[in-house]
Amino acid sequence: MTEIDVLVRDSIKQIKEYSRPPILDTGIKLNQNESPYGLPLEVVREFEKRLAKLAFNRYPEGSSEKLRIKIARKFKTNPDQIVVGCGIDEILYYLLMAFVEKGDKLVRPVPSFGMYPICAQVSAAKDVPVQLSDKFDLTEEFVTQSKDAKMTIICSPNNPTGNCMNKKLIERIIQGTLGLVVIDEAYADFAESDCMDFLKYDNVILLRTFSKAGSFASGRLGFSVSSKKIADYINRVRLPWNVSAMVQELGELILDYEPLFLEKIEQIKKDRNVLLSELKKIVKTYPTDCNFFLFEVKDPKKVFEKLISEGVLTRNISGNSPRLKNCLRVCVGTREENEKFLRALKRCLE
Ligand code: PMP
Repeated sequence: MTEIDVLVRDSIKQIKEYSRPPILDTGIKLNQNESPYGLPLEVVREFEKRLAKLAFNRYPEGSSEKLRIKIARKFKTNPDQIVVGCGIDEILYYLLMAFVEKGDKLVRPVPSFGMYPICAQVSAAKDVPVQLSDKFDLTEEFVTQSKDAKMTIICSPNNPTGNCMNKKLIERIIQGTLGLVVIDEAYADFAESDCMDFLKYDNVILLRTFSKAGSFASGRLGFSVSSKKIADYINRVRLPWNVSAMVQELGELILDYEPLFLEKIEQIKKDRNVLLSELKKIVKTYPTDCNFFLFEVKDPKKVFEKLISEGVLTRNISGNSPRLKNCLRVCVGTREENEKFLRALKRCLE
């Protein structure tokens, strides 16, 4: 008999599988920062027409070329600076495969997105988690640590705290490091500014997704924008047909119908501000540039479970970091969902 535990790579042994959230069959789902809105009917109708003509027996176009052309037009870059993948998650793995070897220093913010420590472990990197400031912003320590890092990950706006990082510090990190700077902008569509201007530096990789403002989490579609040189290296490790023909079509349609998505982003931001101002009256809330935010309660586990019994699923992130020990994270739903959440929370706190 083979001892599988002996065969597995040491770095993989330590990894805990990314915790998948509980599934709520009915009720209000405010736990994964998704858009509460499905794809617009116009997009679905057009997709149905294209679906009827799709060559299901053929492999898709291997580099998502038409989609890359449309993304490049939106961000005023060149299509060969873009790599499309199965969400930001897949692109992160490609970046590790292409650039991070065992023992390479990987600097990442804490508290932040739960995939980054997994990335460090998967690649057997020298994992250097650096605490964000009191206001969950970057620090001088972060700048210093990134100097000799092979890869520095920045999340702006940051999940789960919701705030954008100081752009002056981001720029100092980019200018001061010998390595790559990955800026995860999964939620940038909701923020007032982004880091696209840092593409002038050839060690920067921006990550974007269709999972949030694009109402397309089900499709698993994300991309990187970087220098052509970096994109070329990512393409060497990218699986040849990593994005299905159906998902490529939908990605293109989402961009074709961009004004409809921009309307929804504005709606979500407006509703977020209403929800925040109501919540502030009963709990401490944290400022946000996203479609989600943190709020504090005395007993987060109890409130989280009570909310589930009320049919509202939030995210209990209180165990992620001692600094978040009283926090739950909630994302903005439809206006009706937000009102129901608010009423449910008031009952839970009684
Ligand atoms: N980055 C951040 C900061 C996220 O919060 C998420 C989703 N939770 C992702 C990346 C993953 O995005 P995708 O769905 O494109 O893989």
